[in-house]
Amino acid sequence: MDLIIASNNKNKVREIKEILDNEFDNFYSLKDIGLDIDIEETGETFFENSLIKAKTIADITGKVCIADDSGLMVDVLDGKPGVYSARFAGEPCNDENNNKKLLELLKGYSYEEKTAKFVSCIVLYFPNGEYITSTGEVKGHILTEYHGNGGFGYDPLFFADELGKTFGEATSEEKNKISHRARALEDLKSKV
Ligand code: IMP
Repeated sequence: MDLIIASNNKNKVREIKEILDNEFDNFYSLKDIGLDIDIEETGETFFENSLIKAKTIADITGKVCIADDSGLMVDVLDGKPGVYSARFAGEPCNDENNNKKLLELLKGYSYEEKTAKFVSCIVLYFPNGEYITSTGEVKGHILTEYHGNGGFGYDPLFFADELGKTFGEATSEEKNKISHRARALEDLKSKV
């Protein structure tokens, strides 16, 4: 079966392909199918946004589509940046500005206070309107400095408790074993 990955984020596309490698025959990103589209994420939850993205692309292509909506939730910031993770620092949306804003807001808090989690909600949407959804989480702490330059987004600031290092320092194999997206995708596999 072919799968369209409803994302323009090349890191997410890579992670999804790596984890679902045995479940589908061919993977196509939006770029692969020449679809230049910026879907407005108007939902208030990861699930709502994931459903909007997967449904929009399935309706356009008539193919099975998968979407991930994910983000970082920091406890002392009442769960922010949450669904606004990608656009936390406003325009222009980029990882560097988002990380700077996060560091700024967390100044003065101790390591112990800076507990956080990454959350991913996946929707696998079929052209007949049926869908399967799953979620995954991974817990950690936000550091005061960047560690490592692997991954993307908040990875260099997110110390994954289970790995004993940041996602920025982890290899993609290490990250893919425990990440929020990996867990959501594993959960999805058990439901397909
Ligand atoms: P989305 O593409 O609207 O789901 O936004 C996802 C945003 O959440 C990204 O732009 C990152 O800022 C953040 N994010 C999600 N997953 C990860 C991850 O695995 N590592 C680092 N940041 C992530």
